[in-house]
Amino acid sequence: MDRKFDSDNQPFTSGVVSLRKFLEAAWNEDSVLRESLHLPPADIAVKEEMDHTTQMRINFADALGIADAEAINIFDKELSLTNLVRRPIDAERNLERYQKLPLMPKRFHTHTYTEARVKNAAESAQKKSNYLRTMKYDKYENGALGPLTRILHPSNAVTQKDIIMTVTLYCPYNKILTNQEMKGHHMLIPQTKFLVRGETTLMNFRKKLVCVCDVAMELPDGKELEPPSIAHAHLVRYPSAFIFIHDTFYIDRSNPNSTDTSAPIREFMTRKPIFDPVQCKDMEGVKFIDIELRLGQPYVFQHSGTCEHLFVFHDLRVLHRGDFQDVEDYPLLVVEKTSFAKCYGCKINSATFIVEECDRLPMTTALFCESCFREFHFVHGAKIGHFRASPFYDMGTLRIS
Ligand SMILES: [Zn+2]
Ligand SMILES: [Zn+2]
Repeated sequence: MDRKFDSDNQPFTSGVVSLRKFLEAAWNEDSVLRESLHLPPADIAVKEEMDHTTQMRINFADALGIADAEAINIFDKELSLTNLVRRPIDAERNLERYQKLPLMPKRFHTHTYTEARVKNAAESAQKKSNYLRTMKYDKYENGALGPLTRILHPSNAVTQKDIIMTVTLYCPYNKILTNQEMKGHHMLIPQTKFLVRGETTLMNFRKKLVCVCDVAMELPDGKELEPPSIAHAHLVRYPSAFIFIHDTFYIDRSNPNSTDTSAPIREFMTRKPIFDPVQCKDMEGVKFIDIELRLGQPYVFQHSGTCEHLFVFHDLRVLHRGDFQDVEDYPLLVVEKTSFAKCYGCKINSATFIVEECDRLPMTTALFCESCFREFHFVHGAKIGHFRASPFYDMGTLRIS
C-alpha cells in the first residue's frame, strides 16, 4: 500500500516506525536527559516528599552556584510562558487575535507556513472556514486528560515503560465518493480522537469504534411504529470487521458469524503489481506495541459491509508521569465531534427516523422526528402511501463509554 500511496514522498507521513524499537530508543534518551538533570529514573518511585520540579531547581542552583532566590526568579519569571510568547496565551481559537500576535524575531519555517496559511484564509470566508475546520488540534473534552493539576504537577508514582499516541478517526462515508470529493480535503472531518498506549489491544480499540451503521436497520413494511428488533440491526446481521494498518489486515473474529471481509481485497491486491504483499491476522491479542506503522498515514477500519473509517496515528511519545497510568483507561476518548440532525418537518426536534423512497415527498431521503413521522405518514396508525423507514441515530447521540 505504501508504494501505491507513495508514502516515502508524502510530506505528512513518517517512515515506518516499529513502536517497540521507538519505545526502547525514546526511553533511553529520556533516561539520559533525566540523568543530566539529576532527576530520578521515570520507572522508580521517588521516596522524598519533594517533587521533581523542586528537585530540579535545587540541582540547577547548585550547579550554577547561585542563590535559591535567583533560581526561583529564573524559573518563575524569565522562563515563564507569558514571557516567551510576549502575550498571555488565548485559550480560545481566535483567528483575528492570532493574526495580531507578533511572531518572534527569529524566523522559522513554521512562521513562513503560518503566515502563508493566515494570508490564504483571509482571502475569503470559505477559505477561512476551511482553515479553521482543518486545524490539526481540536478542542479536547473537558477533563478527558484528567485534572490539570495532575498534568502540571504529576505525582511521583512509578511511570510505566510504555508509549502513548493519539489516533484521529475521520467521519465515515458509506458511499463511493466522486473524484471531486476524493480530491477535496474538506471531506476529511475529524470525528473522534483517542489516546492509545502500546499495551492497548487492537480489540479494545475496535470496541470503541461505534458507528451509526451498527445500529441501522430497516423497519418491516407496515410495522414502522412498532419497537424495532435488535436482531435486524446491522451489527447483528453483518458482524464482520477489520482494521488495516501498514501491511496487515487485522480481522475481528469475536463474533462466531463474522467472516474475513478482507479476502476479496487481498485477492485484488495480489493481482495488481502496484501493491506490496499484505498479510492477514486475527485481531485478538495484538497490542499496538507489536505493530509497525507510519505516523500521519491514513489507515482504515471497515465494518458493516462497506462503512469505512479512515484514521491516522500521530503525536507518538513515551508515557509521562502526568498521564493516566492504568492501561484499562485506554483507549481514552479525548475529542468527540457532536452534531444533531434536525427534523425535516418541524426543523426543531432531533431526527429519529430516516424515510426513503416516499411517494409524497419531493426528495428521495428525509429525516423526521417521532411526532412528525407519525403525523405525516400515518392516519390513526395506518400507513399512508409507499415509503421505507429506518430508525435514525445521529453520530452525536451514540455515546462511547
Ligand atoms: Zn461505520
Ligand atoms: Zn419534527
